[in-house]
Amino acid sequence: METEKKIVGRCPLCGGNVVKTCKGYRCENNIGENPTCCLNINGILGNRKMSDEEITEFLTTRRIMLDGFATKEGKTFPTVLELGDDGSVNMQSVIGKCPHCGGDIRVGSRAFNCSNFHHPTAPCTFSIWRNIGGHQLTLTEAQEICEKEITSSELEMFRDDGSVYRKRLGLSPDKLQIVKI
Ligand SMILES: [Zn+2]
Ligand SMILES: [Zn+2]
Repeated sequence: METEKKIVGRCPLCGGNVVKTCKGYRCENNIGENPTCCLNINGILGNRKMSDEEITEFLTTRRIMLDGFATKEGKTFPTVLELGDDGSVNMQSVIGKCPHCGGDIRVGSRAFNCSNFHHPTAPCTFSIWRNIGGHQLTLTEAQEICEKEITSSELEMFRDDGSVYRKRLGLSPDKLQIVKI
């Protein structure tokens, strides 16, 4: 009789099936006596329970931005999970470079912020709200604004009266403000 298993996605390291286990998610080629793969993702990362859907996306993209991680003291924070070639899962809060000053842009709970905000001699106020016009910016969209100065496609946004409009998000000429284009 076949053993029933819950497959959540394909292993980005070896192409095998990734199955749900009691502790998290494991590549089928990392089970048994002679494993040929090392992929084994804990079900709880940064004191946060991962959902099957998040793992499915993570296995496809190898990068996923999520909220709700928590320090030991219970302070919550967002971060980007990255899957290394050795199967390790790394937390990375830096998502790109500031188009205004070249500093690191970090994901915060409400905005992507320039890390030079408190710089003693050259403070930088550049930030991108994570919610603009009711649209929740994705990691890719924020990176496009930082790297290409404009999103590659129009984003769906909403007015006060509920009407929908679509604009690309880009940078003002001084590269400090986000503008709808
Ligand atoms: Zn594998
Ligand atoms: Zn900056």
